[in-house]
Amino acid sequence: MTGNGGRVEYRLARNAVVKEFKRGRLSRLDVCDAHPELIRAALNVGTPLEEDCPICAEVRVVHVTYVFGSRLPPHGRCPATAAELARLCRRADEVACYVVEVCPECRWNHLARMYPAGGRHRARLRATARG
Ligand SMILES: [Zn+2]
Repeated sequence: MTGNGGRVEYRLARNAVVKEFKRGRLSRLDVCDAHPELIRAALNVGTPLEEDCPICAEVRVVHVTYVFGSRLPPHGRCPATAAELARLCRRADEVACYVVEVCPECRWNHLARMYPAGGRHRARLRATARG
């Protein structure tokens, strides 16, 4: 699941959790535990996907990105705009971007992917941004 310049996809792990929920082995309490801060980020700065929530199917899920790195808050920075995210990804210091799938309705949440940016990843990011 790695490769692609250090990018890690968590889709399989996410699908496994959804499957367990549908089989009744996990309850909504187990999977719908998003922190209020994450829900607020999802509503304010989340990127809506063309995909219904796998748990409640009431609304579309959104992606929220957190950026971790030196001189950033220990719990990560949640950029409010695409421009701010792009700026964080162009830093001289390497950063780690965590994309979380969130449902603002039922509070389902799961890590979607992680990718490194900044530092030595800046040139590669520019090169792949067009594709
Ligand atoms: Zn939901």
